[in-house]
Amino acid sequence: MSVRQGPPPARDGAAPARVEVALPVPVPRTFTYEIDAAHARPGVRVRVPFAGRRLVGWVTGPGREGGPPREIRAVERVLDAEPVFDAAMLRLCRWIANYYLAPLGVVLRAALPAVLSNARRTTSPVKTERLLRLVTELPTLTSRDEVFGRSHRQRECFETLESLNGSARVADLTGRYGFSMSVLRGLVKRGLAEFVERPVVRDPFADIEVPAPPDHVLTAAQRAAVERLTEAVHGTTGPETPAPHPFLLLGVTGSGKTRVYIELLREVVVRQGRGAIVLVPEIALTPQTVARFRAQFGDDVAVLHSALSDGERYDAWRALASGARRIAIGARSAVFAPLRDLGAIIVDEEHEASYKQGEAPRYHAREVAIMRTRMARAICVLGSATPALESWHNAQRGKFTLLELPERAMGRPLPPVRVVDLRRPARSKERTSRILSPPLAQAIGRTLERGEQTILLLNRRGYATFVQCRSCGEVFRCGECNVSLTWHRARRRLVCHYCFREEPTPVQCGSCASADLSFLGVGTEQVEREVADGFPHARVARMDVDTTSARWSHHEILDRVERREVDILLGTQMIAKGLDFPGVTLVGVVNADVAMNLPDFRATERTFQLLTQVAGRAGRGPAGGEVLIQTALPGHYAITAAISHDYGAFVERELAERRPARYPPHTRMTNAVLSGLDERAVQDAVTAAAAWTEETLRTETIPGVLLTGPAPCPIDRIRGRWRWHFLLRSERAGPLAAIGRLLQHRYTVTAGRAELRLVLDRDPVTLL
Ligand code: ADP
Ligand code: ZN
Ligand code: ZN
Repeated sequence: MSVRQGPPPARDGAAPARVEVALPVPVPRTFTYEIDAAHARPGVRVRVPFAGRRLVGWVTGPGREGGPPREIRAVERVLDAEPVFDAAMLRLCRWIANYYLAPLGVVLRAALPAVLSNARRTTSPVKTERLLRLVTELPTLTSRDEVFGRSHRQRECFETLESLNGSARVADLTGRYGFSMSVLRGLVKRGLAEFVERPVVRDPFADIEVPAPPDHVLTAAQRAAVERLTEAVHGTTGPETPAPHPFLLLGVTGSGKTRVYIELLREVVVRQGRGAIVLVPEIALTPQTVARFRAQFGDDVAVLHSALSDGERYDAWRALASGARRIAIGARSAVFAPLRDLGAIIVDEEHEASYKQGEAPRYHAREVAIMRTRMARAICVLGSATPALESWHNAQRGKFTLLELPERAMGRPLPPVRVVDLRRPARSKERTSRILSPPLAQAIGRTLERGEQTILLLNRRGYATFVQCRSCGEVFRCGECNVSLTWHRARRRLVCHYCFREEPTPVQCGSCASADLSFLGVGTEQVEREVADGFPHARVARMDVDTTSARWSHHEILDRVERREVDILLGTQMIAKGLDFPGVTLVGVVNADVAMNLPDFRATERTFQLLTQVAGRAGRGPAGGEVLIQTALPGHYAITAAISHDYGAFVERELAERRPARYPPHTRMTNAVLSGLDERAVQDAVTAAAAWTEETLRTETIPGVLLTGPAPCPIDRIRGRWRWHFLLRSERAGPLAAIGRLLQHRYTVTAGRAELRLVLDRDPVTLL
């Protein structure tokens, strides 16, 4: 791929052609432009005039014939000599645009590093470095004396270059080796050396230390899984074989799923020379994770991380596109990594909600991975200790092939889990506290005494989760969103977690002016304080959104935990995922019920997954471990199943709970959300939209779609916009896609009438 500026279009004598161009605008169609026929290649970026602006778009194919005659404008500039999307990628993006009801241009933009869709950027984002390279040899000492005479520094520089195999970075020669630029230029003037520019790959992960992990003997379950996968890999190289089904790797926490991924990569990348993608949730994309892959595959690994600068991201992308690196590891958008000969995609922690993008295109990276591997006839592996109900359901129906790792590696047991019932008043004479019950406090004390580490989870940040007036009961709410404000003690502010607006700490009630206010509900800041008070000598680190806003801060905290400079790590769900610290022998859940009562059909599943994941952080080392869960719902099946590490019991019950209500995975779902600034207008519009949809389902005879609602969204106002929704459900995807397209088309046509916005979210991961 090259980002050189292409030649100008429509030179004299060049044949003009018409092409379709996809643009990143919220209109679900492509636009026709004229272009020099020589450049009319699909996947090439072009800059075009559009509605008084200039946009970067992508040629998607030959121009449409027919249509109303209107002026066809010319492409201003062709930006690539080689397409940035190959045919397979264009096809995948078309599927996403269709399935998720998003404009193709919006999908294509999401699939590229940001620097490649910036219309104002005209310089090449490739970073180069200058080298000084020898161009002749001076074999004899006498010839050196003649050439250099008294220019000793030039001679030293020449000999330094020789010792460095003939070339070195100018920055190193002038820095580390201390030669001046005039010495370097002198060598060039004598015809002995030349300056050359070499593209560099900026890669902040390159410097992390890679402790080579021991190459353990595979467990029997790992071996069986690896054999199945290897067999499937060989199946894909035959000419006529269909793509194998995706594999669901169900492995308990600590069972060694990563090792299975590594063996698969060895087969695909090292033995077959093909490319592969490893997706991990953003917060699990730590240096520790990267190091596990770098230790095996070294410089073949390119990391795509949101904390990278645009330039670094682009470099990683380019290294993959050119084939210089063949393994992409990254979060959600890495599913678009430009690998040419794709052999496998691995989706680790496939149940993670962060794989779904919250804005258009609202794609789910797991679904895109499945589709991309199917099109490329490659292997797809979905790994989890707590698979999404959808994935489990697909395994039960034979759409996925189930591989299981039922035990931890090295024969280590899963940690025992105890429950502390928060409803029972503490009988103990010891200091009782609302936050840490006596059993949990004692367990922390014992762990500290043994010099071992504790993880404490509370999935709520801030200090007090709401502030209430004691006189009139009023709760402080955000002026723009219908949610209560959280008090952050460190910042001394009330903060809205939806729109991020802040207010000073209140001193009196907004409605009755009473100064008698209660700061209620416990967040991580308060746990931190409680822990600091109770265990003044413990070294405590808190990890949540508020402590990890700086670029690599989250990795710095984890590094300290790994070096055992932290005794107690506390935080939100960030600390529950993927961490493998053998020193952690105690996991405490401060309140397991935080998410349980959210008005969302996935609330129970989320709770079970989070508890199981965080419990899985304990007892990974030889010292073993235990887990304490504080809850007011000790009999709830999400809690009892988490206690016994029993995924099977949980899914069976949860599937049964969802069946009569016709919730996914028994059906497919689209959430239609209408929002606007005027409450009444939103309500009228959503009622009309739902009625129109019902009518259209009938007149177009689209079968088997159930419409529920309309009703206000559980959070009925965010950033000043009122929100109403209705649900569309069907056992099959086709009818949902059909009605979705019609609905979208109608609202694109009638848009502009008001500031109303319709969002169609297919397979939503949250209904809030
Ligand atoms: P998971 O991702 O399934 O939770 P990991 O891949 O993190 O599990 O592995 C957990 C731990 O077990 C790691 O420390 C890893 O080095 C170790 N491990 C993996 N496979 C084996 C094996 N075959 N024998 C011994 N230890 C192993
Ligand atoms: Zn009041
Ligand atoms: Zn708000």
